[in-house]
Amino acid sequence: MHRLKRIAIKVGSNVLSRDDGSLDVTRMSALVDQIACLHREGLEMILISSGAVASGKNEIRVKGKLDDVSARQLYSAVGQAKLINRYYDFFREHGITCGQVLTTKESLGTRNHYLNQKNCISVMLENKVIPIMNENDTISVTELMFTDNDELSGMIAAMMDVEALIILSNIDGIYTGLPTDPDSEVIREIDLEKDITAYIHTSKSAFGRGGMATKYRIARKVAREGIEVVIANGKTENILPRILRRNTEVVYSRFVPSVKASSGVKKWIAHSDSFAKGEIHINANAAKALTGEKAISLLPVGIVSVKGDFEKDDIVRIIDGEGEVIGVGKASYDSEKTRELIGRKGNKPVVHYDYLYLE
Ligand code: GLU
Repeated sequence: MHRLKRIAIKVGSNVLSRDDGSLDVTRMSALVDQIACLHREGLEMILISSGAVASGKNEIRVKGKLDDVSARQLYSAVGQAKLINRYYDFFREHGITCGQVLTTKESLGTRNHYLNQKNCISVMLENKVIPIMNENDTISVTELMFTDNDELSGMIAAMMDVEALIILSNIDGIYTGLPTDPDSEVIREIDLEKDITAYIHTSKSAFGRGGMATKYRIARKVAREGIEVVIANGKTENILPRILRRNTEVVYSRFVPSVKASSGVKKWIAHSDSFAKGEIHINANAAKALTGEKAISLLPVGIVSVKGDFEKDDIVRIIDGEGEVIGVGKASYDSEKTRELIGRKGNKPVVHYDYLYLE
């Protein structure tokens, strides 16, 4: 028996689609069987399932040409209904209730919205309902969308304090070369200290929006927060129980989590970089101090310039002399006040360490 209490599982569009793009109901039913079995053992699970757009596309014949936004809205509206219906019926056969949570990036942008969303999932779990989440593609504004559901799953994993995030895709994990090359092997354990970006191939998947590059970026970020992350093949038989029981015959990539877990607020900030309202540019000394071993807050003395207009408590990016983003944090002052304080000594931090996430 596994010893975990709560996990998040992300199911990619490619896992749920057949080669012709239709919804693979056999696969879906097999995954539900696995989840139902783990549910009976008392494991709490949050499912982040893609596949709305892919399954909607196969459902309707469109007359004429549709622009990208209209196509996404139409297909996701139809496909999400189909998807959740199937899940509902499959879980029902096991006597389990599931519920649908559709969200947008904007509805996780402020701390208040974030906590409200967290409350929704918590109350579902408390009542033994399995949350099935997806981005609401019918109302998501292109510029403000999640890169893909990998990004959404990372945010949810951090928000819900899960112990593990399992990302199911249609390949076995991260390979040492091209997955199609017979000499490539799956890297079974990924150490956060080692940089393996050279192994990450940027090709996109056939039906979803994501690719290995975002999976890797999100997996690292989540593992740094103390959460175990696994990238595995959702088409492998009985994959979920086998991962959780640490079956060594099945191949997948596991990111070894940091021992030091981050606080709830820090986790929220870590996943909030795309909500940043401004930039704080700092000098080399400040950059060195922040990225060193000690826990240090960003003081006005290290700031060289401030860009954008932000309010107190807004998220800001912290940028070093080379123009690299080294972190994100919650501003203790608005942009006007921060500008006044540039270079001054003896003031309170502009970003306190407790509200600072370093890349
Ligand atoms: N939300 C999209 C869908 O359900 C998937 C996004 C992704 O591919 O990650 O179709």
